[in-house]
Amino acid sequence: MNSEIICVGTELLVGDILNTNAKYISEKLAAIGINLYYQTVVGDNHERLKKVLDAAYKRADLVILTGGLGPTIDDITKEVVAEYHNEKLVKVDKYYNILAKRYKQMNAEVPAGGIKEVSILENSTLLENEVGIAPGFSYEKDNKITVVMPGPPSEMTVMFDNEVMPALLKYSSDLIRFRTLKIIGVPEGKVDEDLAEYFVMSNPTVAPYAKTGEVHVRIGVKGKNEAELIKEIDKIEKEIRAVYPDNIYTTGEENFYDIVVKTLHEKGLALATAESITGGKIADYIVSVAGASKVYKGGYITYSNEEKEKLLGIEKDKIDKYGAVSNEICMEMLNGLERNIPADIYIATTGVAGPDKDEKDNEVGTVFIGFSIKGEKTVKKYTYSGSRNAIRERAVRTALLELWKSIK
Ligand code: AMP
Ligand code: MG
Repeated sequence: MNSEIICVGTELLVGDILNTNAKYISEKLAAIGINLYYQTVVGDNHERLKKVLDAAYKRADLVILTGGLGPTIDDITKEVVAEYHNEKLVKVDKYYNILAKRYKQMNAEVPAGGIKEVSILENSTLLENEVGIAPGFSYEKDNKITVVMPGPPSEMTVMFDNEVMPALLKYSSDLIRFRTLKIIGVPEGKVDEDLAEYFVMSNPTVAPYAKTGEVHVRIGVKGKNEAELIKEIDKIEKEIRAVYPDNIYTTGEENFYDIVVKTLHEKGLALATAESITGGKIADYIVSVAGASKVYKGGYITYSNEEKEKLLGIEKDKIDKYGAVSNEICMEMLNGLERNIPADIYIATTGVAGPDKDEKDNEVGTVFIGFSIKGEKTVKKYTYSGSRNAIRERAVRTALLELWKSIK
């Protein structure tokens, strides 16, 4: 079965409201194997909605509409669908009575808009609205099914789950199962190249989604048998893991920082940090994860040279000689941390975020990241490009990626 979604509402077109209804319905359709080839957003305009409906019926067997079921003049969805199919709108007593009671309390008659709001197509099937006052409906004619639901997501989602989904299950011949491999530390272009042969397959499908500093690769398989689908996904996951043995950090809901904290926890390791260029960002990302107190001891933001001297005990002569952005000073930062905070792992960062070079002529984007892991110390030099904050963000990601790789 091919389906199509039409979301009605000018507010969606002008960017006031994010179209969460389309995302919600799409995910549910995908999960039960109903094809969805088009989503349309159309404003509250009679003629344009009619055109969109017409196009949808030519392409799809199931057309799902949301929005425009309210009482106001711009709520036109039901009228347009009724006109299209030559049907009358009739009020649903149950909802009308609720409305009539409300108006009676105000000593008023239900206005025409209110009657419209509680009406559905004459020969349609009612879809109950458990949250609001506007009922939805489904309507079948010429082997085409039309589903109309209210716009507010709180109403639509409940109606879809309780009323629409059970009916749709009988049309879904296939199951679809997905798994997302979250890859960190490999550029998008490289993933594109490495996995090119997977990205052109049709069942299973493998698709890349670029995120900041990460690429998520989603494997999707369609078929009849749950166990076979899982087996197929397992097989592809194994193949992709062989390509990136060190870079797939989860197939779950967690983000990378969750995984870093979880891994520290699993290995029983405690971390302390001394941050110059990253200005506390490493600590911030770690502490943003619940349970961080078990793995993070504390640290210093030693942004100025004076504080590097005072808080980490680095000699002024050394800073003058090597410059704050240097292998030597990064190493000294680790030494200072070790003296002050008992931990298993220490991270230190120092670099030039820009916009100008530093006094030792280090280019913007030069970053030294030092690690001390159970007494073994290394400092690596990186060169990043981009804005001040892009450089700082990349330094944080690199630091945590290197940390994770070395302890996992
Ligand atoms: P309507 O049924 O068109 O009167 O929509 C009522 C409210 O629901 C709008 O003001 C929006 O806040 C919300 N809404 C409508 N359509 C959508 C949609 N596709 N996604 C998210 N929210 C929506
Ligand atoms: Mg509207």
